[in-house]
Amino acid sequence: MEHADDIEVAAGHARAAVDLMVTHQVPATPQNFTLWYTYASGRDPDLKRVIDDLIEAGKEFDDFQNAELFQKFFGFAREGATIQAASEKIDSSVKRVREFLSEATNGAHNFGETLENSLSELVDGDKDVVVEKVIQSVASETEKMLAYNRGLEEQLSSTSVEIEALRQNLEDIQREAMTDALTGIANRKYFDVTLRTEAMHSMEDGSSLCLMLLDIDFFKKFNDNYGHQTGDDVLKLVAHTMSANIKGRDTAARYGGEEFAVILPDTVLETASVVAEKIRTTIESKRFRKKQTGEELDTITISIGVAEFHPGESLTELIQRSDDALYQAKGTGRNRVVLESDLATTAAD
Ligand code: GH3
Ligand code: MG
Ligand code: MG
Repeated sequence: MEHADDIEVAAGHARAAVDLMVTHQVPATPQNFTLWYTYASGRDPDLKRVIDDLIEAGKEFDDFQNAELFQKFFGFAREGATIQAASEKIDSSVKRVREFLSEATNGAHNFGETLENSLSELVDGDKDVVVEKVIQSVASETEKMLAYNRGLEEQLSSTSVEIEALRQNLEDIQREAMTDALTGIANRKYFDVTLRTEAMHSMEDGSSLCLMLLDIDFFKKFNDNYGHQTGDDVLKLVAHTMSANIKGRDTAARYGGEEFAVILPDTVLETASVVAEKIRTTIESKRFRKKQTGEELDTITISIGVAEFHPGESLTELIQRSDDALYQAKGTGRNRVVLESDLATTAAD
């Protein structure tokens, strides 16, 4: 499981990163250090796997390769550029509307002046001639005003279409940034945000909240036997099974490599345990075949740890208890669900 590094651990990762960079002749730049520190910490299994594959294939870590790796794992250039373009468009639309409004205001001002002048002429001059003149000039100013208003209306409606498209665009980006690309369920970032929000709700209204951590058993061996692509298919299936067995405000997320989490608001430990059992038995009962060959593969099993939020505790404590329960599930034979209440019993024995 992933936890914040303390200083000593971090220093260890930093040293390992520098050693690795020297070994693989990687230039010492902040971006490369970020990559190799993360690699050394083992925190991002995808990054680790890609770099391991490159090392194994004897690939050179040249500037192009390094830039590409950084872009893949830490780059937000694409989203950044789209957001930048979107905000520039909004700026220019707002500017255009403002210009139109100020023209319209000038128009109204002129209209008022024309009326005023006409009225004073009406008082001073020859009645028939003046009335004719006044009517003409008021009519022409009215026409101008109407034209301004029509223009403004068109401008506003095209701007609002544009803004709606941009809003949709930003929403898509936001959703993408919160979704795990492989499995399509929530990613770690979304998990962090949601757990925080749900913990707050739970404290506000006194409702229960449970956290489930799931880890595929012997997945390394499975990958070694059948290849990463088949492994990836298993990850998708586990994600799908989780999603199919939860409801309402529950959130299924990919926590890291082959680890998953489910946040269960308004749920007590016993109920969470039932959901966990359902997910576990569903996965255990699935039969896998290799896509290309139809070969029957080993059964997949998962271990699950479940804990309930204690109001006032830190999220780290909650995650730690789920993790302890998961650890115990692994240590007592795997393919099982362990609740935090089981841990307490064990500790008391
Ligand atoms: P345990 O039962 O103790 O959990 O054993 P394990 O082999 O599942 O655990 P370990 O942590 O040793 O290995 C996890 C494996 O998960 C290693 C890695 O290759 C695999 N993995 C992590 N992320 C991915 C991924 O995105 N795709 C694939 N195919 N495999 C992944
Ligand atoms: Mg694991
Ligand atoms: Mg595992």
